[in-house]
Amino acid sequence: MNYFSTRGLAEPHSFSEAVKIGLAPDGGLFVPERLPDLTTQLTQWEGKSYPDLCGSFFQNFASDIDALELETLVREAYTEFDHDELAPLVSLSDRISVLELFHGPTLAFKDFALQLLGKLYERQVSRSGVSINVLGATSGDTGAAAINGLVGKKGVNIFILYPDGRVSPLQERQMTCTGESNVYPIAVTGSFDDAQAALKDVFGDSDFSRSVNLSAVNSINLARILAQCVYYIFAWLKLPASQREKTTFVVPTGNFGNVLAGWMASKMGMKVAGFRVATNRNDILYRFFASGDYSVGEASSSLAPSMDIQVASNFERYLYYGLGEDSKKTRKAMADFKKRGTFQSGDDSFIKSMSSSRMDDTEICDTIRSVYQKYGYIADPHTACAFKDLDEFEHCVILSTAHPAKFPETIEETLGISVTHPSLDELKDRKIVKHPLSADAEAIKEFIRSKQKPVQS
Ligand SMILES: *Cc1c(COP(=O)(O)O)cnc(C)c1O
Repeated sequence: MNYFSTRGLAEPHSFSEAVKIGLAPDGGLFVPERLPDLTTQLTQWEGKSYPDLCGSFFQNFASDIDALELETLVREAYTEFDHDELAPLVSLSDRISVLELFHGPTLAFKDFALQLLGKLYERQVSRSGVSINVLGATSGDTGAAAINGLVGKKGVNIFILYPDGRVSPLQERQMTCTGESNVYPIAVTGSFDDAQAALKDVFGDSDFSRSVNLSAVNSINLARILAQCVYYIFAWLKLPASQREKTTFVVPTGNFGNVLAGWMASKMGMKVAGFRVATNRNDILYRFFASGDYSVGEASSSLAPSMDIQVASNFERYLYYGLGEDSKKTRKAMADFKKRGTFQSGDDSFIKSMSSSRMDDTEICDTIRSVYQKYGYIADPHTACAFKDLDEFEHCVILSTAHPAKFPETIEETLGISVTHPSLDELKDRKIVKHPLSADAEAIKEFIRSKQKPVQS
């Protein structure tokens, strides 16, 4: 299986190459040459453990990695989760279940992809003997999860840009208290969108990115999307067969990587009723799925900071499929969007292929309270965004994207309960190490250059 750019101007890449470079050289995102039909395989995957399912799934995509090696790699990636099922499906009522994706080392769903990506990078470095510099931008959880996936990995440096003062204190601690010398958390001035724009500019300088062997760890990395397909399939297989096609997945959404993964799984044969994009008050995606208007607004801070995003980078992949896998049209739409900050679609079947909801901060607090009263369940502020207008669904699975203990202030204020987690308590006495910079590509490149050490053997 080869990987092509959504913008159509890059050579086809192997799985490992596409994962290593992250962003395609023409500025587009990698997509598989075709989405395989997994209908038959799905029936054979019933009852598999999470790592086994993940290994079988990836065999369809990682065709340049030996099957046995892949199996080992996947098994090793998922050893740090604190629940034996990894992604337990918790039933709140006959109509609502919650898929808990927060049992990984940094207590957010991003661990599923980043623990595996860390393994893939490690494999790459040990095969090539060349070190990799990983660069990412984060609104909070990606940074922590990426750092945890890569911490102490030989030959891998990790640089994470985050908006100074706009991630939660605990999220900042998770990034800045590792005490490891291959980790560089960079606190930039501005919003997450500023950080992401600077990141794109750094990758846009292909001479630079080649010279330091730069890789993108953001959810633009194809391996992350594919890794996320697995928990949808895992949950779907756990549902009674009669319920599967009646189920809607409800997904707290920011950069659109999570829900895109589910949607891709459905294109590969996982038959469901649909997908719901749940946003906070940063509602560009809500507006798109309500009316076809994808216009950038100003990102504002909310109680669900990992969703404080206006330009959802993975939307490009969805656009590509929505435009009939036409890379020329995608290229044009993205160029127009960059120029005008807006994309309008009049294609109803494209717009209506997901439903959407939005929630402001007041509703988030009210929802945390009502979910607790109704079900005795504590939802973190991101997960809370999913609990809106669920009556229209016959059955739904809500993806719980973070552990409530990551946002203790909000939970304390709304429920008067103090939630903790041992892995977070442990961080409180550690020293914070961060590097303040402006959200400027040149400054970031200079910083990365200054940290290059001779290649380790
Ligand atoms: C990253 C994140 C999201 C948003 O996921 P996307 O894939 O960017 O849409 C939602 N909730 C939490 C807790 C997150 O960390």
